[in-house]
Amino acid sequence: MPKIDKSLTIEEIEYYYSLLNEEITNYDCGELCKYDNNGIPYCCSAENAVPLLYKSEFEYLKSKGDLWKEWIPKTKEDKKLKQQESDEQIFCECKGVQHCIREQRSISCRTFPLEPYIDRRGVFVGLTFIKTFTEKDSKTGKVKCPLTKRPNDIRQEFIDSHFIFWEKLLLRREEEYETYLETSKKLRSEFKKTGRKFVVLFPSHLKNSKIVKKFLY
Ligand code: SF4
Ligand code: SF4
Repeated sequence: MPKIDKSLTIEEIEYYYSLLNEEITNYDCGELCKYDNNGIPYCCSAENAVPLLYKSEFEYLKSKGDLWKEWIPKTKEDKKLKQQESDEQIFCECKGVQHCIREQRSISCRTFPLEPYIDRRGVFVGLTFIKTFTEKDSKTGKVKCPLTKRPNDIRQEFIDSHFIFWEKLLLRREEEYETYLETSKKLRSEFKKTGRKFVVLFPSHLKNSKIVKKFLY
């Protein structure tokens, strides 16, 4: 039997980008964090967050210009992180915030600092902050992404369109679903142990759903 190619196509990448164009806040959230990070938004420095791109996404972006290159690990921790790449993904770094081109931001850049939250039933119901970025940075003593403390600032239009994107991706790529099933389970188990609540941002159509609330934690 011929092997089915499960890689994302360039057309899919373009379509995903079109779903990920909404501004996250009504202001430039880089203003919240850059003054503690040498003038660079925390999430735009490869020292703090290395964007993980689909290989086809990297090819697509390379065809548009020279903003992106493969990330080369330097430290022992970097090398450990590099091992987390799957066959279809590659860690990359951009030329820097002064060269950023809005249309050429990766899926990682566009979705940061949120990821899917999957409830007790295994149903994708909303977005939650990537846990590690809700924590303090040991160098600055400040929360890595201060936007994680301002969930009400996240635009509903952003949540709604990103929810559609994630719904499509989770159906398309089973391993992404498995990844977020695990991260969501970890959030719940930590909540049970410590009582530390986590934020779930709901898309408009699920905001008043009693069923969703019932299976949330
Ligand atoms: S998403 Fe968070 S880390 Fe990135 S620029 Fe906004 S506040 Fe800073
Ligand atoms: S492409 Fe732009 S948004 Fe993405 S990491 Fe680089 S500077 Fe930040």
